[in-house]
Amino acid sequence: MSIHQALEVFAAGETIMREGEPGYCAYMIESGQVEIVVTRNGQPLQLGTRGPGAIIGEMAMIDDKPRTATIRATEDCKLLRVSREEFSRRLDSTDPVVRMIMRVIMTRYRDTIARAENPSGLPMPPGLLESHEQADTGHAAAINAIKVNLELREALAHQQLRLFYQPIIDLQNMRLAGFEALMRWQHPEKGLVSPAVFIPVAEETGLIVDMSRWALDVACADVKRLKAAVRADVAPVDPLFVSVNFSVKDFADSGFFHHINSTLTRQQTDPANIHLEITESLLMQAPEMAKDALERCRVRGISVSIDDFGSGYSSLSYLHAFPIDTLKIDQSFIRSMRSSPASLVLVKSIIGLARNLNMKIIAEGIETREEARVVRDLGCHECQGYWFARPMPLDDALAFARDWQVPSLWEEAH
Ligand code: C2E
Ligand code: CA
Ligand code: CA
Repeated sequence: MSIHQALEVFAAGETIMREGEPGYCAYMIESGQVEIVVTRNGQPLQLGTRGPGAIIGEMAMIDDKPRTATIRATEDCKLLRVSREEFSRRLDSTDPVVRMIMRVIMTRYRDTIARAENPSGLPMPPGLLESHEQADTGHAAAINAIKVNLELREALAHQQLRLFYQPIIDLQNMRLAGFEALMRWQHPEKGLVSPAVFIPVAEETGLIVDMSRWALDVACADVKRLKAAVRADVAPVDPLFVSVNFSVKDFADSGFFHHINSTLTRQQTDPANIHLEITESLLMQAPEMAKDALERCRVRGISVSIDDFGSGYSSLSYLHAFPIDTLKIDQSFIRSMRSSPASLVLVKSIIGLARNLNMKIIAEGIETREEARVVRDLGCHECQGYWFARPMPLDDALAFARDWQVPSLWEEAH
């Protein structure tokens, strides 16, 4: 579970918090402006104003003292509310909201100390106070992440997520081997949003766990339809599969395997029709956890693929310690293979070693017939890429499975 955040609206003139009253939450200003007022010698003294991106009332996150200032909306405001309860539960987390609030708290402490040492005793000019926040280079990114995270929650709850499918082709016989499931976000205003935008945020906040569960559920249902759609003469030799992407957060969840198992059972999906796709960095980050979860998957009959192989700190000998069935060669190798003989040699040796370890190899990002031919000649088993098809909605993937013609495309290559 990730930190609870909610948007609250205040009209111009409304008081957001009052000096002397207890406080249980902090706010981040999403839009509008507020003023900060303290009482000095019975008179209100305006300490400054705050605009979008600023955090207010954050001391309530760490102590029980009453609010030290009154904060009032000077314009209509939208504020993101973070409760203390959720905050303290997640203090150790990687949630960007938590991290950012901690940074601001530290800044404020430094600020208080500086003020105590300020011989003039006068309040610091507002501009100086604000400069602390502005100076934080991670600020804009954190705010964006918070917004995306809020919207993503909505997306999950309101069925705005979609799974697209990209075909994977068997290079030996040009039959359809399976599909990779790739997430899309059908945003009500922005249209189709790329996973490159929202997956990193979902990973950071932990929302990815619910999203992956959703994706597996949909993939389990869809693979049965894809299997039924594919014509016998182009049907794969091995069971047709849908490959689902998982990230390190999914593995960190103690119920990971249990959930996969129960989803397969509930959907009555043959485990041979589902592959798990993970990156090698996951194995490096949490080797013990990964090994245990992957071994249980293997026992259940689910294949495991290593995604983006070669893009990180790859070590085939290291991989050998895990129950891995497939390596997916990162598309950056395919891109550079033509111009760089070194890349070609590298791809060749990866394929050779992987074959010796009885692993299947999939080349990703095949954009031309030439690339398909080269990787096939190097001994690659399967490939996927724009040359065959881009990721597409289920209905189009069903039509692809029905209409896929084996030979013609390939024969032209020779
Ligand atoms: P990935 O897992 O490496 O997925 C392959 C990406 O390469 C996809 O981008 C796909 O559209 C793109 N691609 C396929 N063929 C070609 C080609 O011939 N040329 C080029 N230039 N690109 C090609 P996409 O769908 O935008 O996904 C980006 C990344 O987002 C994925 O990379 C994966 O890391 C992540 N992602 C997508 N869906 C999920 C998901 O359901 N769960 C998780 N955890 N991550 C996901
Ligand atoms: Ca993938
Ligand atoms: Ca990949």
